[in-house]
Amino acid sequence: MSDASPQDSTTVLKVVDAFDLDDELRSILRPCEMVRDEQGRRHRLPRYFYEVPSREAAVKIRLTPHFGLNEFTLVDLKEASRLQQFPRYVPCAVRFLAFYLEQFRTAVGASVHIAVNGAYRSPLHKLAVSASPHMWGTAADVYRIGTTILKAKEAIDRYNEIAEDIGADVNVLPYGHVTGLNADDHVHIDLGYLTLIPREISEDRMEQPQEARPRFAFEERRRTERRGPAAVAGSAAGEEKTE
Ligand SMILES: [Zn+2]
Repeated sequence: MSDASPQDSTTVLKVVDAFDLDDELRSILRPCEMVRDEQGRRHRLPRYFYEVPSREAAVKIRLTPHFGLNEFTLVDLKEASRLQQFPRYVPCAVRFLAFYLEQFRTAVGASVHIAVNGAYRSPLHKLAVSASPHMWGTAADVYRIGTTILKAKEAIDRYNEIAEDIGADVNVLPYGHVTGLNADDHVHIDLGYLTLIPREISEDRMEQPQEARPRFAFEERRRTERRGPAAVAGSAAGEEKTE
């Protein structure tokens, strides 16, 4: 029995191939394009994004028990104007970030507050000079933990250490005053240039023109829906239609 159709934006997240978006969005998100980091290494930008239909949906959709999707999509005027509107787009790898932040929250035993503009930043964002994991949706700038505003070196050092102890995938920026290399008013946590191709996406014929492939998929959000045979049939239906 599926009480939630795949179109119900409050329970499912729509996955889009950025190549299928309009010209303006493609030119902002730049799927699969190469960007150089500070060291001159090249990294390929993500291709698959969650489409966030509205502010209301962003607030309602939880990525983990303590992190709502909206916390990763809050932007200000430094972001490309198209990405200040809805629908908004965030790389699918943001779910890994949320998972690690949830571990971090448990480790510090307090709420973790992500800054506005502190998670996903598009390649057109004014702070996006060279490749940074923020463009992959895999970095978060935390400005407050519990009641502690992160400005002092001792606090930033301490929380950086706790973040690094979560696992080898976690990278932080040491305390210091060089933008991009250090942080002196937040804790920066990132997972590197990680991309996620959701399981709903079929990877065959990836190099074919986009028209030959499903235009998008819906990711099942609730455990009960994932278990239900009706939901499984529903999510596979889109793929069956293409020959
Ligand atoms: Zn950062």
